[in-house]
Amino acid sequence: MELFELTLKEAAQKIKNRELSSLELTESFLKRIDQVDGKISAFLDVEKETALKTAEAIDQKIKKGEYHSPLMGVPVALKDNILAKGLKTTAGSKILKDYQASYDATVTKKLKKAGMVLLGKTNLDEFAMGASCENSAFQKTKNPYDLSRVPGGSSGGSAAAVAADECVFALGSDTGGSVRQPAAFCGVVGLKPTYGRVSRYGLIALASSFDQIGPITKTVEDAALVLNQIAGKDAYDSTSVALAVPDYTKELKKEIKGIKIGIPKEYFVKGMDKAVEKSVKEAIAKLEELGAKVQEVSLPYTNYALAAYYIILPAEASANLARYDGIRYGYSAAGKKNVDDLFSVYSRSRADGFGDEVKRRIMIGTYSLSSGYYDAYYIRAQKVKALVEKEFSEVFQKVDLLATPTTPTVAFRLGEKLANPLTMYLSDIYTVSANMGGVPAISVPCAMSNGLPVGIQLIGKPFAESQILNVAYQYEQTANWHFTPFLSSP
Ligand code: GLN
Repeated sequence: MELFELTLKEAAQKIKNRELSSLELTESFLKRIDQVDGKISAFLDVEKETALKTAEAIDQKIKKGEYHSPLMGVPVALKDNILAKGLKTTAGSKILKDYQASYDATVTKKLKKAGMVLLGKTNLDEFAMGASCENSAFQKTKNPYDLSRVPGGSSGGSAAAVAADECVFALGSDTGGSVRQPAAFCGVVGLKPTYGRVSRYGLIALASSFDQIGPITKTVEDAALVLNQIAGKDAYDSTSVALAVPDYTKELKKEIKGIKIGIPKEYFVKGMDKAVEKSVKEAIAKLEELGAKVQEVSLPYTNYALAAYYIILPAEASANLARYDGIRYGYSAAGKKNVDDLFSVYSRSRADGFGDEVKRRIMIGTYSLSSGYYDAYYIRAQKVKALVEKEFSEVFQKVDLLATPTTPTVAFRLGEKLANPLTMYLSDIYTVSANMGGVPAISVPCAMSNGLPVGIQLIGKPFAESQILNVAYQYEQTANWHFTPFLSSP
């Protein structure tokens, strides 16, 4: 077994026992990145020198007996919309091509304190808008299981990097599925915490009422270990919640006998990929074998959630992206030919700096917020959001959690959905509801279908991360397939 194949749990044990130094582990990952990232293009930036220096410094601390967290010395990647002081943070956009973060996001700060070694920043759809990573202004990340396919998005770089063993774990952000969908496509674990569980401070905002940062890991236990470090109230994010952070690994081993799992019938519809349906149903049968009580439930507003999401998200995004005006941040067209007044600085900077999908959403958002249309679109979409929240709280009176597919299909081909944005939006159909309802959800690998991973999604009650992690962990222990990315042995 190669060092870069270690899970977080395994790496932490070896580092703690001093069987392995952070430097050895970091070198192994840097070599791995050199070998495979040319094909995968998961990273936008690799910080070789800094990573090696940090690893050496951590090794010194450990030698002095200062071991204090399972993240000590562990090589990590961050999605490039999460700020890390001094490093470029592009959000996958030309408009932020040369933007250097002047402070650490709260999650970055916490991971640094826990002793991570930051390897670099990973690719994403521009401003996290997309489901394939093809909207990045810089490069197209490939799925490590099949290089002709997408890794999913928008945290596709993070998911591909974990799947291809280019880091021990990565962070992504999930506004409408961007942690879970790429995790499902790449055969790794992706967790979106409850809205408010993890601070959004230092995450480049997409839709502030949905955005959450979450871990992308090789195992469920690793996701719990990472959540332990990043969760909690933060004075810099007023929507973060002041609830105690439990040890998320504590309940993993609990039996799930008698736990009530609801299967929303609206998630198994005609037209969905048969292989995905079969795999997820088999996984649900496994949960039953483990003693879970499975029952069909109905979430009728599911059918409206996607449409409402694609009103609310552009509305919030158009407001959040107003700050990129060629004056305050990033690229500026000032001084270019025919840019001779303030208005043309704004408009040319935005015209040159934003890609098509971002422009499309700014236009949709501005339109739906405009006077006369606000009630017809934005307010109605907010009403649907309230109904989705209500529907979740009602169904959680009857069952403890929900099990669904994460995605309607396996990873699609590069280019397949680019020409038609609506088909791209449809790939979020199973993931957006959890963001609309603010509830936690996890995607766990559940099968391989023709060489491509399939994910099952578990959706929990607000702040019941421990419970979905428990069920996900118990399920994961029964898995008897092997996930071997195409590039495992280059
Ligand atoms: N595919 C979704 C979208 O394009 C995902 C967004 C996200 O979670 N960042 O809006």
